[in-house]
Amino acid sequence: MVNENARFLDTGTQVYDFYEEFLVVCPKCAGLARVLIDRDELEKMSKKKIDRLRNLLFAPRRLVCLSCLHRDYRKCTQIAVGGGVDWYFRLPLWLDVPCCGERLWAYNRQYLETLENYVGAKLRERTIEGRRSFLSKLPTWIKLAKNRAEILRAIEKLKAKLPAGV
Ligand SMILES: [Zn+2]
Repeated sequence: MVNENARFLDTGTQVYDFYEEFLVVCPKCAGLARVLIDRDELEKMSKKKIDRLRNLLFAPRRLVCLSCLHRDYRKCTQIAVGGGVDWYFRLPLWLDVPCCGERLWAYNRQYLETLENYVGAKLRERTIEGRRSFLSKLPTWIKLAKNRAEILRAIEKLKAKLPAGV
């Protein structure tokens, strides 16, 4: 449950910080699939190049369906960060629902919970780093107090789509 009196402190989480996992719709069975970083390849890259963020963003990705065992693999040399699809396979997100005449989406549980805390808070504050955070760049409709209740209901619907442990 959201604490209606909660205060939210935005410490500057950037959209890049969600590189680790995307929950997507499996292209084969329409079930829940995960897009995950290839840890072995990331380790190899990190030994050669020390640009940590670059390595994290460009390490190859594995697609793993939790329902039909569909697997895929992709190494991208270019990615488009942000938007309502995963950045590697460009698949639709599992956590995506109509809301306030728009679409509310989240990359993963961490993103959804951050959004929930932000939307649910009556008072939003930010550190200097918070000025560049992904929250500061959210569309206006998500920030409006009049949409709060509807957005929180949509977030509840999305949470119900998350199996335990994902
Ligand atoms: Zn599948």
